[in-house]
Amino acid sequence: MVRQGILIVVSGFSGAGKGTIMKKLLAEHKQYALSVSATTRAPRPGEEEGKDYFFKTREQFEQMIEDGELIEYASYVNHYYGTPKAYVEEMLSQGRDVILEIEIQGARKIREQFPGAVLLFVTTKDARELKNRLARRGTESQEAIAQRLRRAVEESEGIEEYDYLVVNDELETCVREIHSIIESEHRRIRYHMELVNQVREELRSFSKGES
Ligand code: 5GP
Repeated sequence: MVRQGILIVVSGFSGAGKGTIMKKLLAEHKQYALSVSATTRAPRPGEEEGKDYFFKTREQFEQMIEDGELIEYASYVNHYYGTPKAYVEEMLSQGRDVILEIEIQGARKIREQFPGAVLLFVTTKDARELKNRLARRGTESQEAIAQRLRRAVEESEGIEEYDYLVVNDELETCVREIHSIIESEHRRIRYHMELVNQVREELRSFSKGES
């Protein structure tokens, strides 16, 4: 039986360490397909086109929206971010689990379109840690950090809409937890109806005395 691919959404406050977690999760578990988003924000030092993001101008991004190339998109701190449709559909059709590292508005749109998607929220153990990490990263201006913190306040109001909370205290533990959540999701009855129906059928036959 071919294993059905699951769509996994990972959101979390800016600075909660989602990027690092994703890198380690994918390095350890090659079966996961990580969707690369399109964005209008400028690359950070070290970020690569097509690996971290597809970097677009506002005009290019708006064209992608118009052409229906995105499953979802959202505006975050003055920039557009969106998930290209083709890759996600292709991977799911191959039975791969696809991970989307996106913010809350996008997560909501994914849940509407894919009711079976699993939504995970990553946080640090407290807010001070988050503030320190954002400052330490040193890639954003004071104003951008302040905007990201304001955005975190809004996102914190929506945490109940997610299925699982993952606390990024220790990286290894966090990666193990995410992997085990995904594995558990695969055990849901709805993904095994073929087997369930087969067993039911056989039981009916046996109960009628067939051998
Ligand atoms: P950053 O600028 O720190 O890379 O990302 C800012 C926020 O945008 C993060 O919360 C990240 O998860 C989110 N994000 C990245 N790609 C997408 C996307 O394709 N769609 C949506 N809705 N959010 C995204």
